Amino acid sequence: MITIAVANQKGGVGKTTTAINIATALAAIGWKVLLVDLDPQGNASTGIGISAPDRTASSYDVLLDQVPIADCVHATKIPGLDLIPATVDLSGAEVELVGEEDRAHRLRNALAAHKGHDIVMIDCPPSLGLLTLNALGAANTLLVPLQCEFFALEGLSQLLQTVERVQQRFNPDLSILGVALTMFDRRNRLTDLVSDDVRSCLGNLVFETVIPRNVRLSEAPSHGLPALVYDHNCPGSRAYMALARELITRLPAMRKAA
Ligand code: ADP
Ligand code: MG
Repeated sequence: MITIAVANQKGGVGKTTTAINIATALAAIGWKVLLVDLDPQGNASTGIGISAPDRTASSYDVLLDQVPIADCVHATKIPGLDLIPATVDLSGAEVELVGEEDRAHRLRNALAAHKGHDIVMIDCPPSLGLLTLNALGAANTLLVPLQCEFFALEGLSQLLQTVERVQQRFNPDLSILGVALTMFDRRNRLTDLVSDDVRSCLGNLVFETVIPRNVRLSEAPSHGLPALVYDHNCPGSRAYMALARELITRLPAMRKAA
């Protein structure tokens, strides 16, 4: 089982859209995928069609009550894709966990005891708090969606520092899978400049595939469907399929298993 954290402490950069659509793309090629919603806003849960009343067991239960992963898994409409949803009580989890010795290791421990999925994708909240630390502690590798805008690189250095601290303290094997440029708009010159800047700074860390700004990607969640299912042929969906293919080549262990 390989665990991918999708993180960036900035909100609205495409984390959830990326997590949902990459998870869907990997399920489509036959992998058993578990998407873990670790954002109290629950956008990944809504976007995949599990509405709030249906979230009978959630990531809160995994973290706070140490309920086994298998008991919190919800099947989705997409074959091969399961979900652990997030509920609003997750917003109190960071405070509730504060005194616990293993507070940053709860998700890692839970996943270590879990079997039955080939790949776990964790959709992180927009902060570098305890929830994201749990994700980074549990992950083999990190996928960073980056919106091409002026302060993009500044936020990234903070994230990379956090990754280093996690590597030093409790997850030495955490790698960075790559940085995916999102909401790319060719008509906007600033987007081009930032993208060139990011590539010259980060080199091969940046995926070749770029996700364009595409209204179909933003419409899909209101239908409770991944864009890849809602309109598999729109430019955004095609880009996410390409990103999934590129991403797989960076997952050596999975490539062998596939
Ligand atoms: P995050 O999880 O980082 O907060 P989201 O994935 O929720 O970001 O994206 C923020 C908003 O932008 C959402 O409304 C989403 O539907 C929309 N969005 C994400 N990616 C794109 C894109 N490539 N083109 C157009 N809209 C997008
Ligand atoms: Mg989100």
